[in-house]
Amino acid sequence: MDTVANETLQELLELAHCCAARGWVPATSGNFSLRDEVGKILISRSGFDKRTMGIEDLIQLEKDGSVSSTSAGKPSAESMLHVVIYRERRETRAIAHVHTIWNTLLSGQFVANRHVALEGYELLKALSGVTTHRHRELVPIIENMQDYDALCLELAQVLKKYPEAHGVLLSSHGLYTWGQSVAEARRHLEALEFLFEAEMRRLQGSPK
Ligand SMILES: [Zn+2]
Repeated sequence: MDTVANETLQELLELAHCCAARGWVPATSGNFSLRDEVGKILISRSGFDKRTMGIEDLIQLEKDGSVSSTSAGKPSAESMLHVVIYRERRETRAIAHVHTIWNTLLSGQFVANRHVALEGYELLKALSGVTTHRHRELVPIIENMQDYDALCLELAQVLKKYPEAHGVLLSSHGLYTWGQSVAEARRHLEALEFLFEAEMRRLQGSPK
């Protein structure tokens, strides 16, 4: 882990703690990762309360997702999804995955459409490259499954199909989002979760 600045590690831990405090990673769910300069990945180990996440809870993976010889512990079953995102989004340095009420509901509702469109919201401008609330952000939705090999293939295709996407939803499961730094990943996460809640509440409140 000596290829990652201590400051960056602390930022990742703080993000995990913040997500836990907001109830975004309930019941030991969710995971967080970083990619260092040489392509190795540091990812939260499987199944623990993210409120207490420390440096000792990070496992180092090689580019292909195998556990580095210098590391011990069991990575999350979802770690290969991080590997796919780092492969397909070469500029990405940090990834967050959370299970929130709003992303769970919205992704379930729109799974048949293969994406949910967000537009008209000022907070869209928190997504890198977006300069106006008139932007139409398409967040792809993949049908959730327990076959992670199939899920990885699907995720790779979706990332190619939606090159502008800032995040991907798994239906009735959660969000993956990323950034070129922990700060950018955090900004995308907070913006997308705000937008999911706003959109879902708007839909719930609309006349039948
Ligand atoms: Zn998950």
